[in-house]
Amino acid sequence: MYLLALLTVFGVAFAVPLTAPSTEVFSAPTEEERAAAYVLPRDTIPTFYDVRLTLNPDNEEYFTGAVDIRILPLIVTNQITLHAMAMNISAADIEVYAESAPTVNLFQSHTLATNDTHLFRITLNRNMTVLQPHTIRIKHYVGHYAENMFGVYVSTYTSGGTTHKLITSQLQPTFARRAFPCYDEPAIKAIFRTTIYSPPAYGVVRSNMPVRAQSLKPEIPGYAKHEFDDTLVMSTYLLAYLVSNLDYVDNAMDTPFKDLYRVSFRVYSRPDTQNTAMFALEFGQKNMVELEKYTEFEYEFPKLDKAAVPDFAAGAMENWGLVIYREVALLVTEGVTTTATKQNVGRIICHENVHQWFGNEVGPLSWTYTWLNEGFANFFENFATDMVVPEWRMMDQFVLALQNVFQSDAVLSVNPMTHPVYTPAEILGTFNAVAYQKSGSVIRMMQHFLTPEVFRKGLVTYIRNNTRDAASPLDLYASLQEALDASDHSIPYPLLDVMDRWVNQGGFPVLTVTRSASAGQSIVVEQVRYLTDNTLRSNDRWHVPINWVLSTNPDFSDTSPQNWIPPAFPARSFDIPGLSNASWYIINKQQTGYYRVNYDTRNWAALATALNNSHEVIHLLNRAQLIDDAFNLARNGRLGYEYAFRISSYLVKEKDYIPWGAANPAFTYLDTVLSSSSQYNLFQHYLLNLTAPLYKELGFDAADEEEHVTPYFRNIILDLNCRHGNPDCITKAQEKLEAFRTNPEQRLNPDIQTLVYCSGLRGGSAENFNFLWDMYLASQDSSEQSILLNAMGCTSNEERRTFYMNQVISETSPVREQDRHTILVSVTNAGPNSTEAALDFVIKNFAEIQPRVQGLTGTTNILNAFARRLTSEAHYKKIDEFFDLHQGIFTAGELASISGIRENIQASITWSKQNADVVESWLTDNYGSSSAPALVSSLIVLISIMVTIFNY
Ligand SMILES: [Zn+2]
Repeated sequence: MYLLALLTVFGVAFAVPLTAPSTEVFSAPTEEERAAAYVLPRDTIPTFYDVRLTLNPDNEEYFTGAVDIRILPLIVTNQITLHAMAMNISAADIEVYAESAPTVNLFQSHTLATNDTHLFRITLNRNMTVLQPHTIRIKHYVGHYAENMFGVYVSTYTSGGTTHKLITSQLQPTFARRAFPCYDEPAIKAIFRTTIYSPPAYGVVRSNMPVRAQSLKPEIPGYAKHEFDDTLVMSTYLLAYLVSNLDYVDNAMDTPFKDLYRVSFRVYSRPDTQNTAMFALEFGQKNMVELEKYTEFEYEFPKLDKAAVPDFAAGAMENWGLVIYREVALLVTEGVTTTATKQNVGRIICHENVHQWFGNEVGPLSWTYTWLNEGFANFFENFATDMVVPEWRMMDQFVLALQNVFQSDAVLSVNPMTHPVYTPAEILGTFNAVAYQKSGSVIRMMQHFLTPEVFRKGLVTYIRNNTRDAASPLDLYASLQEALDASDHSIPYPLLDVMDRWVNQGGFPVLTVTRSASAGQSIVVEQVRYLTDNTLRSNDRWHVPINWVLSTNPDFSDTSPQNWIPPAFPARSFDIPGLSNASWYIINKQQTGYYRVNYDTRNWAALATALNNSHEVIHLLNRAQLIDDAFNLARNGRLGYEYAFRISSYLVKEKDYIPWGAANPAFTYLDTVLSSSSQYNLFQHYLLNLTAPLYKELGFDAADEEEHVTPYFRNIILDLNCRHGNPDCITKAQEKLEAFRTNPEQRLNPDIQTLVYCSGLRGGSAENFNFLWDMYLASQDSSEQSILLNAMGCTSNEERRTFYMNQVISETSPVREQDRHTILVSVTNAGPNSTEAALDFVIKNFAEIQPRVQGLTGTTNILNAFARRLTSEAHYKKIDEFFDLHQGIFTAGELASISGIRENIQASITWSKQNADVVESWLTDNYGSSSAPALVSSLIVLISIMVTIFNY
């Protein structure tokens, strides 16, 4: 699954209303009790399902189905336990037969749990014999379409003025049980035969397998029958259904992308949008070819469909043979889709392709190991996109994602990658930043400390050894260890020992490295767990692979480890030959290790000098590392802020996007905590100075042959300039919007649309807002709609802002529920006044917002946006008021997000107490009107003066 907006690690973010415990004495169940309550007993196992579904999009009340399940008893028992959810099954419709006596019905009674165990228990009138095949026959049941898009559900879209319907599904992780009674755990695999009966008006009906050549099932009057071939052995969560009138392009058609891949490859989308499917058709096939080469394992299903549906809770879902996407995650309209969205489409297609191996061929033993699916999908969505479009520099960009997940992984309460889960809400909660970005980052570290070819060979073995089976991390380590043992490379510990701590402990370390004597060759490395709240302590330690570069030989290419820091002791010292001659040194080449590094201040000062003199001597990923580490270590009280600022001052010369991508979140944080400070204008002056040469160079207009990442770079620079008051930037943005309003045929470069629209709305013009709102109403393109939704929150016109926020709770709003949270997130992020307005709106209307934004991540996304923006005592009081007003209705995920908000406000207040003075004095010394910028080179001053002159 690919979640467009990931659950944060705060979030067991699912709509589970917290109700008071019904018994007077309530003690939390133990892990064993929870396992016993939720995990299916392995006393019977299914081998084959024959599922018949009657799906009519024009009857949104319910659907019907029937299923035969062939099972094998593994013990002598008269009990069968499986799952069923939101379903009506009557006793008269349940039969159980031994295959040896197919006319003797053994059924006696059944129960269907009404709680979240979803257990469906059948009792027989006699015991079954071990390994004697039996068949459970549910002749008829009534199922219910999911309203939150988890399960089988009805979706609508308009085209040509009429409303069309379709039925689709999202069964991961625990919703196959909503489609038909089944053993709904990933490790309980079987073969599935599917038949769908649906109205003849819906011509495009698909499932995991192609249509069966020879019919087996009876007709149902008034319905068209769609029979599909039997699947390979697979998990329930990977089944998928589509009843629609979508259209397609495929690799049998006469397009430039014919037969790029040996398997039938189709992209389905709404009729008349097939031109937007061409990117997916090309990229998807090429990517499958690369993945087959890498894994040395051929994709085994006879077809691979990709379908874009208008309403989809996740971003995309890797159902075997029928991958379903939200439109914005699959379709690309050249000239309309932004570079960032197009890159996301490529990345998401690759993510789902990777799952065809990591997930579908080899699935997790349980959702405790969600990271085995999502961590590999996260790593390879970058690594294997790079194989098709190396110019996108996905593995360079990876470092920014790694730095981003450090933020979520730096709290004491964070869950480790392997984390036992039992309830459906807990299981859904594992689809979070730890299972995706952290696990992807740890897997990248493993690739480098094992070396890339050992890593690849180990994965080839892992897939081959565990095909159509369920795996645990131990199976992964065994295959990688085997490859390592067969290679020339070695590491000083068993892989199992190394990975155990990275996988079973939350968080990550910070290494503090100091030279033991000023002219010596040795360093002392101390490791502690890095925690944002620096008053907290932890004894967790890791096996940390390290390597280094000295100023005397700045070669950053070999990323294999030169030494390891073991967990046994808090500190270790060792010699680095040549260190005494080096003016600076850097640990963790290309930031392949998942940890931060702090140095003695002498080294930080030397690094700042090196960067300011000739930054290109240092690898660009390490430049990004130094920026990110310096600002976060300063924020954490481990390094004086003046060093972080001295490091950052080199950025005025930085022409690569990646280090700026690392700096931008640091600036956003400072922007938030300094926004009410008396020195805020000096901070703005600092940012405008740093960006001045780039603002001039990048401008608003894209050059013909510019690099793929340049639009991201331009956006950072323009956003900093327009947001912090560069009058030239604001004027140009408003001119662009005016010109576009006057002549809408002359389309704006999509990459700067959000910025131009946003800046145009900051002036408060109601006409500009209305123009964009009308454009939103007229748009049929999901990526254009997304740009507009993100921009419209920038309006400073109070009346329009209120109108916009009301779209979240309006019964008649044209904004889809899955998109509504974007409105409030966009307003919250637009600036201090807008944040206040959004906060007041949410406090007043939360009870109405909650049911009208998409269930999985809607409200938590809104609350998490507040967590990043609220900073003061006054905010804390408002959050108390919010909590008191709505405390009866919060879900577990929302409560977790509210704790996150409180924690962050406290942290901001502490930050101000501890750091405001030093930051303000550095800004005053360097950017105060009376003093010359001591640490900024005279060239920068000259440029900034010139820019200032040109601007006025
Ligand atoms: Zn996934």
